[in-house]
Amino acid sequence: MINVTVWNEGLHEKSSKEVAAIYPDGIHNCIKEFLGTNEDLNIRTAHLTQRRCGLTDDVLNNTDVLIWWGHMAHGAVPDKIVQKVYDRVLGGMGLVVLHSGHHSKIFRKLMGTTCNLRWRDGDRERVWTVNPSHPIAKGIPEYFTLDIEEMYGERFDIPEPDQLVFMGWFSGGEVFRSGCCWQKGLGKVFYFQPGHEGNPTFHNEYVQKIITNAVYWAAPQNPVIADPGCPHAKISPEQQYKEGK
Ligand code: ZN
Repeated sequence: MINVTVWNEGLHEKSSKEVAAIYPDGIHNCIKEFLGTNEDLNIRTAHLTQRRCGLTDDVLNNTDVLIWWGHMAHGAVPDKIVQKVYDRVLGGMGLVVLHSGHHSKIFRKLMGTTCNLRWRDGDRERVWTVNPSHPIAKGIPEYFTLDIEEMYGERFDIPEPDQLVFMGWFSGGEVFRSGCCWQKGLGKVFYFQPGHEGNPTFHNEYVQKIITNAVYWAAPQNPVIADPGCPHAKISPEQQYKEGK
């Protein structure tokens, strides 16, 4: 089983009737629902207004892949929690950052850059699969269209991705690196651009497939290491070999 925690800020759904109409149970439960069709995924949700943002030590220590959606309250996530998520990613936990999560504390900390981009609400997007052999692109056509999505355009201030899987083209003329992969420490990080709260993006079958693929890709292959430390290798393996140990 892969333990997945879907973290959602969860504020837009409460403050906007339009957003609540698209995601009546919140973006987190929409994601939980489509991921839940996979029997080997054990999914829980967490959100900002819960104690410790729903990311207690117990939850984090039992999360293999964390999905992150946030927008209007990035600053409300305490640095202490961000540090714990960061440490867990370096130890091997997978992280999938969606849409406006580009400005979340955790994504900026992992990237080490501003993660700024250009944006404009209400455009048509074509998501192009530029790396069809990548595991996250499995079952995704060479391109698919989102009739309405927020435009995110270059330059996106991120370090060069280890792998670029999707490129977005917008009807306004902009392009964007929409699906990017990095390894950070022992953890895998995937950023995916579509997912504006006012659009039905998370109901799109290909978006659902991409997020599902990303969970399997980012899942650690070995147990997450809580504290890798920095050990003093006093006695070398060669020394031990010579001593017959
Ligand atoms: Zn947005």
